[in-house]
Amino acid sequence: MTRSRGGTDGTPLLSVRDLRTRIRTDDGWLHAVDGVSFDVDRGETVCLVGESGSGKSVTCESLTGLVPQPPAEVSSDAVEFDGESVADRSEAELRSIRGRRIAHVFQNPQSALDPVYTVGEQVTEPIRIHEDVSRSTARDRAVDLLRRVGIPRAGERLDSHPHEFSGGMQQRIAIAVALAGDPDLLIADEPTTAVDVTVQARLLDLFRSIAGDGTSMLLVTHDLRVVAAVADRVLVMYGGTIVERGPVEAVFSDPSHPYTQALFDSYGVSDGASIAERTARGEIPTDGCRFRAECPHAVDECAGGAQPAFRSVADSSDHAASCVHYGPDGDPSAIRENATSPMDSRAERGAERRSTDPAESPATPTPDTEGERR
Ligand code: ADP
Ligand code: MG
Repeated sequence: MTRSRGGTDGTPLLSVRDLRTRIRTDDGWLHAVDGVSFDVDRGETVCLVGESGSGKSVTCESLTGLVPQPPAEVSSDAVEFDGESVADRSEAELRSIRGRRIAHVFQNPQSALDPVYTVGEQVTEPIRIHEDVSRSTARDRAVDLLRRVGIPRAGERLDSHPHEFSGGMQQRIAIAVALAGDPDLLIADEPTTAVDVTVQARLLDLFRSIAGDGTSMLLVTHDLRVVAAVADRVLVMYGGTIVERGPVEAVFSDPSHPYTQALFDSYGVSDGASIAERTARGEIPTDGCRFRAECPHAVDECAGGAQPAFRSVADSSDHAASCVHYGPDGDPSAIRENATSPMDSRAERGAERRSTDPAESPATPTPDTEGERR
């Protein structure tokens, strides 16, 4: 990796320590995020992977106050952005940070775009807030930005409304709105999930180019092809905890936590109940290793207390797993024998299965005719 990991003083752009978000439900507190720590360095793309219900969205939304409190309660040892704490900011301050410094892109572009305003108005507004420029300069910038995200005939389309665009184009516009304020960090939560497969590939190219331009990204995706293409580092999440972290090459070539192996082996295709359902039924432990009930390597030490300490795996100090078998008394050799890289042929088949899963498609798929297939 040629990019510098830290800022000039070595501080990461985003630093999260022991983030916890619990949500009050009819059955009591649900520990949606249960002690998550990670950094995003300047210019870096960090991907958060893990099956549905593992706490990825709640993690992202807890960082900038997007989780409604109540019913949620967010606490942490630290959430620092550009060296300053954002953990105890007021809603007004958080809104200002969200607008300018940290931008979010969501699964459904409809949630980000206002049907009442034109695309031009929506892309121009953050530009005008961010920089003191004339209306016509802002309009020129908006056209540039829309071109950059791949909107054909951008200049002519400025006065169109979101509904005049296909789902894939709407997501591009939502990304343009997110980039318009020139954010330091783009948080994108499953941005390619709600669009069809051909559009996914094109959005992937877009994210690759955004990453290449030096924008830091925290990207949530279950699509391991996206991870392979854009991530510098990967965080693997299960049951509200991160279970493995490391440089993408290391985690993909040497998945070390039994959950990461299971995820890569099945490519995230869960034949059984979702994590959310299993959590509701009390089937996912809330202490020790959350994965132990399903883990083929579970031993008595996996239960009780905090999650297992992160231990370096193999020779890479950056690549670590929260698993007792990598501890001083452990023997990870049996685990390592099982490793399957997600990029092998089996994983590719899994990807095809997944992409045709109706549960992953929007209820009413929008045909992507406008510009996507030219
Ligand atoms: P992911 O993004 O990894 O699919 P989420 O972060 O959305 O998972 O959810 C983590 C857990 O928190 C899940 O069990 C989910 O059902 C639960 N959860 C999320 N939001 C709420 C909410 N508003 N009320 C109750 N439970 C919620
Ligand atoms: Mg989610």
